Amino acid sequence: MRKVNSKNYIKAKLAHLHQKASICHHEAGHTILALIHFMNVELVKINYTDFGFVGDMDYFSIFDEKKSLNQDASLLNFNIHSEIIMLYGGLAAEKILFKDNSGSDQFPMVLKNGCEYDIQEIHSLIKKSVNVKPGLERYTFKKQMMKISSRLLRENWEDVKLIAHALFKKNRLNTQELKKILTTKSKNKEYWKSQFKIIHSIFSEPETLDLNFVKITLGIA
Ligand SMILES: [Zn+2]
Repeated sequence: MRKVNSKNYIKAKLAHLHQKASICHHEAGHTILALIHFMNVELVKINYTDFGFVGDMDYFSIFDEKKSLNQDASLLNFNIHSEIIMLYGGLAAEKILFKDNSGSDQFPMVLKNGCEYDIQEIHSLIKKSVNVKPGLERYTFKKQMMKISSRLLRENWEDVKLIAHALFKKNRLNTQELKKILTTKSKNKEYWKSQFKIIHSIFSEPETLDLNFVKITLGIA
């Protein structure tokens, strides 16, 4: 038998809820950037584990469906850039949230620990990008990508919050639920309606996709 120390209990409970809110914004950051880059987000979820809350997003891009698109240099470039920007979205969203709540740019290192997988993925993607040489060039490139990620999230912060709050409540959101939230509750609902329409059209019959059509659709041409 152990007497519960109520003060510690309240502290732990509060830390727990703050961590949950942070993870929800992290996953919402990935989700919004994936959708902006025409990725198909099937499911975004958070789970409670022994290590606290962890998040996960199941998604695929048109480049996973039709690998031949990567043979075109500008499409390959778009693919790598959009994946990296999307992967930075988790950390970028947590940073914006922390700054909003505290006013501070000094993002605690401990919060970066949840982003190890994203950072690893970013490293392996950068290695695939032949245009970026190791060293200073790679460092500058990463900074640039993170900056784009943060800018896009700030521009769409209200929508990041819509997704984060729904995730906090429901713990998981599928494509239909994401679509419903963004096309009915967002101030940018017209943009999201068109974005979901485009995503649906490119993923409905990927094998028939024509290279030029993809370029025009993704805004690369
Ligand atoms: Zn992440």
